[in-house]
Amino acid sequence: MTKRNESTTMRIPVLDLSYEMKDLKPQILNAIEDVLDQGAFIMGPKVKEFERNVAEYLGVRYAVTLNSGTDALVIALLAAGIGEGDEVITTPFTFFASAEAISRIGATPVFVDIDPHTYNINPQLLGSAITSRTKAIIPVHLFGQSADMDPLLAVAAQHNLIVVEDVAQAFGGEYKGRKVGTIGDIGCFSFFPSKNLGAYGDGGLLVTNDQELAEKSAMLRTHGSKKKYYNELIGFNSRLDEIQAAILGVKLPHIDPWNEGRREAAARYRELLGDVEGIILPEEVSYSRHVYHQYTLRVLNGRRDELQAKLEENGISSMVYYPVPVHKLPVYESINASMSVAETLSFEVLSLPIWPQIEASTQQYIAGKIKEALQ
Ligand SMILES: *Cc1c(COP(=O)(O)O)cnc(C)c1O
Repeated sequence: MTKRNESTTMRIPVLDLSYEMKDLKPQILNAIEDVLDQGAFIMGPKVKEFERNVAEYLGVRYAVTLNSGTDALVIALLAAGIGEGDEVITTPFTFFASAEAISRIGATPVFVDIDPHTYNINPQLLGSAITSRTKAIIPVHLFGQSADMDPLLAVAAQHNLIVVEDVAQAFGGEYKGRKVGTIGDIGCFSFFPSKNLGAYGDGGLLVTNDQELAEKSAMLRTHGSKKKYYNELIGFNSRLDEIQAAILGVKLPHIDPWNEGRREAAARYRELLGDVEGIILPEEVSYSRHVYHQYTLRVLNGRRDELQAKLEENGISSMVYYPVPVHKLPVYESINASMSVAETLSFEVLSLPIWPQIEASTQQYIAGKIKEALQ
């Protein structure tokens, strides 16, 4: 590996895209050149081809590409007929957008605490959060691990709720052998550059097996019209750029080996850190094929910030996802709920560097510094 010592300025980032760039740059430049030569920049052949291929990969009938994962959530909720006065249940331990989409359409987010082992919404707690206004549940497959869908779907069926999966962090992940995002009514993906399948700009995707939801979502994407200049709904301009679709088209065939690389890196961290006291490593539960968008451990005894500072001193980047649970954000000040698991975890979690091609020697260096810091 690259030699690293205290005096060099070599830093280990949390994510390194230079490997894929090196492998795929010629193909990506070719694909972009195709777009320039075609001269179709919006909703051209690359978007159509990517929608076909991604639907086939995920095993789902309809794929509607969009401008971002956030728009996918907003459009999914609107397509499902949710709006003002409705309540939508989600997790407090996620990126803000999962809840923001609910508030954006005039509905009210209702937070249900998480399971400390998976960091995902705890289906046992759903029952007590349901009211006569509840219309939907948004489980988030956080850090690449599937939420526990069967008990969640059972509650949804019992109360006639729509299930919108937030799959922004789990492209290619599985629940009991099925791709996450295809298990509920609608799946919402993000192609933000740092996600497991990332564009080189913003991008998003909504998938469903329901023809009506797919058609309505496709209309909302383009100003609420099926036919140009015959607008039927108040919609958005939320299309995936042709250039981004071309880039994603080159990257999609690589997602399985990349996710496998992340899983191998996670297994290596487990080997290297398994006997370190004072931390809890992320668990892969039996129903899930975890794709490790993040490798997030818990640092006990109030030592998280100290560990992060020591790693920083040694040139190792790490991140805290998320320092404030969503129900405690300033924007939701009026929500007076306590979610003890999410609140505890926000003081404990630390995400280590991970990417598909991370070298064993880099992980050994990181693990060594973690041991040194915690002894
Ligand atoms: C990234 C992310 C989003 C939003 O995706 P964008 O494409 O950035 O809008 C939504 N939910 C979760 C859990 C995310 O990680």
